[in-house]
Amino acid sequence: LEVIASVEPRIAEATRQELTDQRGSLKLIASENYASPAVLLTMGTWFSDKYAEGTVGHRFYAGCQNVDTVESLAAEHARELFGAPYAYVQPHSGIDANLVAFWSILANKVESPYLEKMQAKNVNELSEADWETLRHEFGNQRLLGMSLDAGGHLTHGFRPNISGKMFHQQQYGTDPETGLLDYDAVAAKAREFRPLVLVAGYSAYPRRVNFAKMREIADEVGAVLMVDMAHFAGLVAGKVFTGEEDPVPFAHLTTTTTHKSLRGPRGGMVLAQEEFAADVDRGCPMVLGGPLSHVMAAKAVAFAEARTTEFQDYAQRIADNAKSLAEGFLTRGANLVTGGTDNHIVLLDVSSFGLTGRQAESALLDAGVVTNRNSVPADPNGAWYTSGVRLGTPALTTRGFGHDEFDTVAELIVDVLSNTEAGTTKAGGPSKASYVLGDGVADRVTKRSAEM
Ligand code: PLP
Repeated sequence: LEVIASVEPRIAEATRQELTDQRGSLKLIASENYASPAVLLTMGTWFSDKYAEGTVGHRFYAGCQNVDTVESLAAEHARELFGAPYAYVQPHSGIDANLVAFWSILANKVESPYLEKMQAKNVNELSEADWETLRHEFGNQRLLGMSLDAGGHLTHGFRPNISGKMFHQQQYGTDPETGLLDYDAVAAKAREFRPLVLVAGYSAYPRRVNFAKMREIADEVGAVLMVDMAHFAGLVAGKVFTGEEDPVPFAHLTTTTTHKSLRGPRGGMVLAQEEFAADVDRGCPMVLGGPLSHVMAAKAVAFAEARTTEFQDYAQRIADNAKSLAEGFLTRGANLVTGGTDNHIVLLDVSSFGLTGRQAESALLDAGVVTNRNSVPADPNGAWYTSGVRLGTPALTTRGFGHDEFDTVAELIVDVLSNTEAGTTKAGGPSKASYVLGDGVADRVTKRSAEM
C-alpha cells in the first residue's frame, strides 16, 4: 500500500478502508467471498502487462510462452476438478462466459453459408447475401431460461438484457404455491416454444436443480442445455452437488464465475462437451477482448485450492450453514421463499416485517450486515424496491462461522428488521425506500457481530 500511496494516496486509503469494511461487517452477499492470499497475490503481477489474444499455441501476439503455461494449467485443473472434456478459462466475467457460450451454440448449431466458408477460411468470399442470411439465421433463434423474479440471471433471456434481444425468448418460473421449480411446467413450455437453447441455473433460487431432468427436457425438444453454475460452482467442485445435481455431465455447456462459492479471482469460465470446443475456443477475439493472464493464473491457483479435501469440507459447511441460517429465521417466525434452502442461498421475504427489500437492505447495512435486496416470485414491489433480501453463506463460512454463529446472524437480522419501520416521502406519503431504524439497534447489532 505504501507503493500505491506514493502515487495516489486516495486509492491506497480506499483500499485500506475496503479491507476494514469487508472484515468488520457481516458479509452475506451470496455472490461474494474472501479469496485466499495466494489467489489475491497472483492477480497482482506483471502477467497483467501481456497481450495474448487467441488460444494456447495459437496467438495473435508473439512472446506468449508463459501465458500459454498459465492458460493450459488453469484449463487442465478446471477439466480435472469438474470432470469436463474441455475448459475455456479466458472469460473476464460470468456474463462474458455466457456470451461465449451463446456464440458457440449459434456457431455450432445454426446452419449457414458463413460457417462453411469460415471453416474453409474463406470469410472474404462471403457475399452480401450470405451475410444477410447469417444475420437472419443468427438473429432468429429461441432461448428458454428461468425468469429473473424466480431466481434466474439477467443473461438467461431477461428482456431488457442483450440475451433477451439477441434471442426470441421465453421464461419459465417456479410453482406459485411452493416456489419450487416445476419440471413438468418447464417441459410443457419447452415443447410449445421449441428453443434452441434451454438455460438452467440461477442467482437467487435457494434449492438444488435436477440437471438430468433438464437434459431430458432439452433432448426431447432438440435444444442445447446450457447450465450457468456461477453461484454454486464451489458446491460442485467441493462434491456437495453430485449425481443429478452436478450439471457438468448433463449440460452441453456449463458456464460459471470463478469468484463466488468457488472462491477464486473475479472471472468466468466455460466448460463444454467436445462438439462445442472449437467454437468456444474462438471466444477471443470473436466475443472477448484479450485474456487477463494474471487472472487466468489466479484461476489456476484457485482451482488447485478447490481440489483439496479442505475445500470439500468448506463446501459442505457452506450448505450446512445455510440450513442453520434458514432454521434460525424459521424458528423466529420469518418467511423464506420455498420455506428453506438446500444450497448456499436463503431468500428472506421481508414483507411480513412491513418493509420492502430496499428498506431492509439499507437498515441492515446501518447495523453492519451487508446483503442485497432481491425480488421474490411475482414480486409486487418490482425489481428495484423488491420484497426480499438474498443472503448467502460462502463468505462467512470462509471466516469460520458455523451453526451457532449463523443462528446468531439470523437473530441479529430479525432484531434489525423487527425494529425498523417504513418511512415516508418528503411529502409525507408512503415510501418504498426510506426507513426509520429503532434507537440503539445498530449499536447493539454491531457490537454483537464484532464479537463473532
Ligand atoms: N450468472 C449468474 C447465475 C450470476 O449470478 C452472475 C452474477 O451475479 C453472473 C452470471 C454474472 O457474473 P459477472 O458479474 O462475473 O459477469
